[in-house]
Amino acid sequence: MNLESVCPRCGGPSPLGLCDRCRMEMANLLDCPDSVEVTVCPVCGSTLLRGRWQDAEATVEDLITDAVAAEVGTHRDLANPEVSISVRRKNATQYLVSVHLAGTFGEIPAEEESIVAATVRRATCERCSRMAGNYYEAIVQVRGSKGAPSKEELKETQKIAEATTDYCLSRGDRLSFVQEVREVKGGIDLVLGSTQQGRAIARAIQDRLGGISGESYRLVGMKDGKNVYRTTILVRLPRLRAGEIVRAKGAFMEVRRFEGKRTFCSSLLDGHTAYLSEEDAEDALVVGDRSSAERGLVVAGDRDVLEFLDPESYRAVSASRPVHLRAGPGDEIEFLRFRGDMVILPPRDEDV
Ligand SMILES: [Zn+2]
Ligand SMILES: [Zn+2]
Repeated sequence: MNLESVCPRCGGPSPLGLCDRCRMEMANLLDCPDSVEVTVCPVCGSTLLRGRWQDAEATVEDLITDAVAAEVGTHRDLANPEVSISVRRKNATQYLVSVHLAGTFGEIPAEEESIVAATVRRATCERCSRMAGNYYEAIVQVRGSKGAPSKEELKETQKIAEATTDYCLSRGDRLSFVQEVREVKGGIDLVLGSTQQGRAIARAIQDRLGGISGESYRLVGMKDGKNVYRTTILVRLPRLRAGEIVRAKGAFMEVRRFEGKRTFCSSLLDGHTAYLSEEDAEDALVVGDRSSAERGLVVAGDRDVLEFLDPESYRAVSASRPVHLRAGPGDEIEFLRFRGDMVILPPRDEDV
């Protein structure tokens, strides 16, 4: 015989103590705060989360939704809980948030709704207030080896600075910003919000353009009981540039990139790689670069030598054929002049 069990609260059938309905009525299904506050910088739109400013590419409504969602709790016996949050604007700083919860409690469908008041505070973030206050921590001075860097190098430098600044900011360095770019005699000065950012920029410039760097700092005062330093990082670009054709160690080479103090080159003739030491690089003669190359029409050739028409004299001249250059009569080749000799350039990388 089965003992008929009943719910002690409502008297309905229930195998084990309280029935689902009574348990649900007594339980707190949706746990919601009465109010939330979000702080937004009116200048850049970043938001203050757990005491830290963070970039936010979201609307105020989204920020409020996230803030409420972070604090909503649901009863652990509720199966398949579904929370939906909608935000309604009351005025410039006040919003009303309705939180709707649906799920299944035991066998019974359950639902609950709650209203949260949201307040938006506007406060200028540390980054924006420092930018406005002309704050800076570091200066990266970019200089040439002999005279000012070229226009291309300066353009490249600024591009690297911008990309690195964005990268540092995305990695959480809130003081990563470019306060000012000053054109000075012999190069440019990048005036920067953060020392870390300055070091990262100096490294990135050297990775790309080569050169050497040195750092110095000086004490400029005290803030909140701590010494405040300003760092100056000098980046001196190398004499040679990537893409230049040079004569070094008895061969013609194309400068590829820089690795620390070494210059990484490839031989024009056979494509083999070669490193130039600081001294070799200092002694290297610059022949030109691809953009200054002339074009000539091949008239004859064998494995080692190509004969082509010099567009200046209209005479056939001959020069060594780079191993990877598959040109024959009727084809155009690129060449540079060097002290009365012709230097045929190998195919560009993308053509190999
Ligand atoms: Zn009951
Ligand atoms: Zn801001």
